[in-house]
Amino acid sequence: MTSAAPSKTRLVSIVVPIFNEEKNIEPLHRALQDVISKLGDLRWEYVFVDDGSRDDSLLILAKLAEQYSGVKVISLARNFGKELALTAGVTYAAGDAIVTMDADLQHPPTLLLELVAKWREGADVVVAARGATAKKSIARRASSTVFRWLARLFSGGRPMEEGTDYRLIDKKVRAAFLLVRERRRAYRQIVDWLGFKRVTVEFDAAERFEGKPTYSLSKLWDLAIDMIVSHSSVPLRLLLYVGLLIATASTLSLAWMFLAFYFISPKWYYTPLAQAVVFNTLLIGILLTAIGVVGLYVGRIHEEVLARPLFTVRATLNVEESVLPKPYDR
Ligand code: UDP
Ligand code: MG
Repeated sequence: MTSAAPSKTRLVSIVVPIFNEEKNIEPLHRALQDVISKLGDLRWEYVFVDDGSRDDSLLILAKLAEQYSGVKVISLARNFGKELALTAGVTYAAGDAIVTMDADLQHPPTLLLELVAKWREGADVVVAARGATAKKSIARRASSTVFRWLARLFSGGRPMEEGTDYRLIDKKVRAAFLLVRERRRAYRQIVDWLGFKRVTVEFDAAERFEGKPTYSLSKLWDLAIDMIVSHSSVPLRLLLYVGLLIATASTLSLAWMFLAFYFISPKWYYTPLAQAVVFNTLLIGILLTAIGVVGLYVGRIHEEVLARPLFTVRATLNVEESVLPKPYDR
């Protein structure tokens, strides 16, 4: 279906979020131009999203846009964070395929060849995943291991997909992506959630070309929490189980305290204080259970409020284009 009109050259969009990357923009653009020249049978456009940079990034982007008509620049009114910058970029991308990548050259431009090749072979989502040899600080490595472990635990055993934000999506994936309206988001998680035909390619991440990573550990941690919370209501359910466990255990203890004294032997005497303590624990158990139950309802509401599309359409037959989802303008 994708190769219905081979005569028409297809357009590929390259979406790059930019936050204080004045020293990286031109090297990245040059490197990409190099790669693109090897793929002359495609048309290309850049969508640079300036995410409220405080350096000269926007100035440099404006110059590029003047020189190259294929360079689109979207300037956000403030710093919205990478995830929303990516969303903005994908919204404005007009390509038959859309590639998202970081500005700092940690996502090797040459890998574009592989991403495009897989797309041409029929993949709808081509994800670049860091190879095992990737260099990361110990803190980073530890946090991403913990992150993955937590994500797996809290998503009810559903394995986390591997991969970075360096990925290619087909335009039909973009259409589905634009239907997802939740504000707190992780681009890659949404793309993973959408489904479609997915292929992974591996790469070795280089060190950042210029400047410091702007994605601090604390930002990463926030992202991790967002991903877990928007993934499931398992944390809420955990509350319920812990509450039930405490309530059951303390009920049994209380029962033992009374029954053992009267029916087994008077040596099982517990002071009133001990009884009060266990009774208190029982109350805590009941409280946690109640919160857990309320949490389940909140979880339902939460899912509804997120208002994700109920399903995503991969292809249709005999349906007009206009029925396909369109980007929202908000
Ligand atoms: N970025 C952005 N907005 C932000 C933070 C980062 O658009 O608030 C961009 C940044 O310019 C880069 C990409 O997101 O293109 C990845 O950022 P960074 O290299 O700091 O993250 P890391 O490589 O540490 O994940
Ligand atoms: Mg980086």
